[in-house]
Amino acid sequence: MTFDLLIRGGTIVDGTGAAGYVADVGIVGDRIHAIGDLSAAEAADSIDATGLIVAPGFIDVHNHANNEMDGGILNIPGVENQVRQGVTTLIAGNCGGSPWPIDEHLEAVAELPIRQNYGLLVGMDTVRAEAEVGAEPANDEQIARMQDLIREAMDAGAFGVSTGYFPDFVTTDEIARVAEPAAEAGGLYATHMRSEAGPILEALQEAIAVGERSGCPVQISHIKCWGRHAWDLVDDVLEMIEAARERGLDITADRYPYVASFSGVANVIPSRLRIEAGRRGGLEHLRDDDLIDEVREGAEAFIDEIGGPQNLVFAPLEPMPKIDGKNLHEVAQERDQEPWRTAMELTIQGSVSCMFFVMREENVRRFMQHPAVFAASDGHLRVLGKGVSHPRNYGTFPRWIGHYGRDEGLFTVEEVVRKCTSMPARKYGLHDRGELTPRRIADITIFSWEEIRDTATFEDPHHYPDGIPHVIVAGKVAVRDGDVTDGAYGRVLRRRS
Ligand SMILES: [Zn+2]
Repeated sequence: MTFDLLIRGGTIVDGTGAAGYVADVGIVGDRIHAIGDLSAAEAADSIDATGLIVAPGFIDVHNHANNEMDGGILNIPGVENQVRQGVTTLIAGNCGGSPWPIDEHLEAVAELPIRQNYGLLVGMDTVRAEAEVGAEPANDEQIARMQDLIREAMDAGAFGVSTGYFPDFVTTDEIARVAEPAAEAGGLYATHMRSEAGPILEALQEAIAVGERSGCPVQISHIKCWGRHAWDLVDDVLEMIEAARERGLDITADRYPYVASFSGVANVIPSRLRIEAGRRGGLEHLRDDDLIDEVREGAEAFIDEIGGPQNLVFAPLEPMPKIDGKNLHEVAQERDQEPWRTAMELTIQGSVSCMFFVMREENVRRFMQHPAVFAASDGHLRVLGKGVSHPRNYGTFPRWIGHYGRDEGLFTVEEVVRKCTSMPARKYGLHDRGELTPRRIADITIFSWEEIRDTATFEDPHHYPDGIPHVIVAGKVAVRDGDVTDGAYGRVLRRRS
């Protein structure tokens, strides 16, 4: 037997949680052919993995790689920040926003040199806009139209439907009904819940209801207790998830290993007021005499909830030297304004992104350790050195493994690899991936348990991690000796394809 690629002498941590063992992995074409003592075999190419962990490629089911606002896979297909973390599969289209039409987008991506596999959820906000439903609850006819669009997306290979940032007029009933065709096609419902702050329990109740009524398995995206009004609710959140699981609902969650979220400064202004300003012709109407007091009140309440303006740090995608990496307190002082007004002016200016340092470390750990929670980045594709980046774009998986697993002792290598591989694969129906067994696709990440480490920080975020020397995508070497190779072996994944 001659293998195309032979990985020699590594410790196999197969993704299921089973204890690691030393063996060789023989690959033919894009599949794992054999695992065992293959020392007598010949191979066209080989990698010496002695002393290293050989694991399934990491699967990042929550990211925004489709987001063209900041490049996105269509514009920067070859960027390395995901594959260098050992990620071999991305599922994008999260938080309610996806490309449209799905089929056209996937066909375009299939033509590009991408470095890891790529699949999509269909965003319910996107579908709502496509169906031209206005700022009001959808009627039966509109719901039927949205259901047709979801069906079309599922036929094109979407893995499910995502929601996020829904304003009050979108009802639970509407969400559940629009999600039904996703359930019929075997897809899931991934939700950036309506609230992760004070009203998180009501929001979680809604997410569970949508799952139970639509028939979709539920994925709580980037689970967190956001802001100080939610910090003490972590036990209630976990209990509610456990109770739903006991009733038979397939509900899980994902989590990135950092205490700051990343979003737009617009979040400081209540969405109701942004919608009203939009209705009047643009966000500059936030300054209108009859709105400004409410803007101030809402923004000040928000700033209070995050614990003060110093906890909002600007992270623009395109460099903005006056605010890059500064916090709202500093920028407001420089402008001689009150913080709420600075936040409003930057909201009017448009699409200024920022980080909110609003999570408690202890809660981050609680979520990560829960058996229904696995790893995901909530990240974006990033060009090394460009703009201000959240470190999760470079460090999510090595931080789960190296920092929280090895250094903090939260997980064994087998447990943490499972949370990066088979758990997301099973949930998202990636049946050919997520475990190292013969016949599965050879997406493989080879790392050092002693050396794996995230090096991107909030202060200095553009750094690839250490300790992940080799990454195999579909049987081909995508990263060798810590550097990407010339080839781009990622594939477009369609559900059931
Ligand atoms: Zn989100």
